[in-house]
Amino acid sequence: GTAQIGVTGLAVMGRNLARNFARHGYTVAVHNRSNSKTQSLVADHGHEGTFVASESMADFVASLERPRKVVIMVKAGGPTDAVIQELIPLLEQGDIVIDAGNAHFPDTIRRENELKAHGLHFVGSGVSGGEEGALNGPSIMPGGSRESYTTLGPILEDISAKVDGVPCCTYIGPDGAGHFVKMVHNGIEYADMQLIAEAYDLLKQGLGASAAEIGQIFADWNTGDLESFLIEITADVLAHVDAATGQAFVDVIEDRAEQKGTGRWTVQNALDLGVPITGIAEATFARALSGSVPQRTAAVGVLPAHTADWDVKDRDAFIEDVRLALYASKVVAYSQGFDQIAAASAEFGWDIDRGAMARIWRGGCIIRARFLNRITEAYERNPQLPLLLADEYFTGAVGNGVAAWRRIVAGAAQNGVPVPAFSSSLAYYDGVRAERLPANLIQAQRDFFGAHTYRRVDRAGTFHTEWTGDRTETAQ
Ligand code: NDP
Repeated sequence: GTAQIGVTGLAVMGRNLARNFARHGYTVAVHNRSNSKTQSLVADHGHEGTFVASESMADFVASLERPRKVVIMVKAGGPTDAVIQELIPLLEQGDIVIDAGNAHFPDTIRRENELKAHGLHFVGSGVSGGEEGALNGPSIMPGGSRESYTTLGPILEDISAKVDGVPCCTYIGPDGAGHFVKMVHNGIEYADMQLIAEAYDLLKQGLGASAAEIGQIFADWNTGDLESFLIEITADVLAHVDAATGQAFVDVIEDRAEQKGTGRWTVQNALDLGVPITGIAEATFARALSGSVPQRTAAVGVLPAHTADWDVKDRDAFIEDVRLALYASKVVAYSQGFDQIAAASAEFGWDIDRGAMARIWRGGCIIRARFLNRITEAYERNPQLPLLLADEYFTGAVGNGVAAWRRIVAGAAQNGVPVPAFSSSLAYYDGVRAERLPANLIQAQRDFFGAHTYRRVDRAGTFHTEWTGDRTETAQ
């Protein structure tokens, strides 16, 4: 075979990824379960580079030079397993299978084990940036063996997004590390989107501003610290006018958010690892609440509000407060997400470089943002940084906005504007910086009803009090 890389699965993502490889001068083997997609790719885009189209998987595999590099870009779950089973008997020792779909990382760990037994390399790789990114440069998060990265890495780095000439692709870590990091990326994306939505709601309810006016505020914000893809598209969306009604486009969209599951996976894993990712969790639950139609129908106009009308005296000062609160909440969400990566890295032995994660998220992906540079710098200053929020840059940047953050969360509570991500982020901030939390009482309660023991502030060891007896304390 002569093709340097192959792509099987040519729906929107696979098609664009294959074109991206071809545009970078690679000879690309292409295959899809139903041949029509393969044919239309070659018919529509054959002139963009060199494609070798095959109708059968066997011909596809035979068209690749060794060690073969096969990118699977099919529907995640069962379809990925089906394609892997089809590939196994056709491949040879040392070939590399790359799953670039949105796999759940435990599946990736399982698949890597199975392929290793066949002498094959399996690279579970996160790919972010949607169809646009796949074509013009995504952020790529490949896991698997380091050995496979020596031949595969340069090709992936070549087609990835670049920021200041640096590729948005790096080796992440063994087995499920790549898909894990992609999962957390998506979780952070949920938090980021929810925070932006809350800021929009605050501006709408606090100022009575129109969608177009709020769009202009976001456009202004996009020239500063908050500069990011999500803020940019928010400004764009808010400015858009519905052709059918002439109304602001956002005002004719139903307020029920959907999800495909990566946010839920992130939260489930955080519960398993015991990492508080309140921003991502609130964002996931906020989507669920928006879709809780029977509950919302039962509550609207029924639950007493006792709110005051929001009486904003200084428009510009309010806008600046919302901006500062958004920035601070966003830092909390990222700080929590990076904690989750650190915890999983320790749990699974992945040795993930968090600074490098922030670096490869600067371009190509949905959460690309100016401030990711600050995160990379923070982990360069201290690769073992226990808390992103405690980095000297972020203590300053968030510290500047704490008073505004409190005003906004308090105002929202008094005026009945739901800001679950803003307020839980502030609660996390106050919780993590508290000298003493009320967990002492929890420990006493646990010892009372379950003899779960407790530690004392003044002596080493664990203790139990005979609550139902004479209340003597014994060392355990
Ligand atoms: P889809 O997830 O819609 O999957 C469609 C593709 O899967 C088609 O090529 C289809 O083949 C193939 N397929 C489905 N079932 C099977 C099967 N049993 N055996 C063989 N092939 C099968 O495509 P997308 O391009 O949207 O996404 C591909 C992957 O990329 C997914 O894992 C997705 O989660 C992930 N992803 C998607 C992003 C996006 O923005 N869309 C962003 C990042 C990742 P056929 O044509 O024959 O039906």
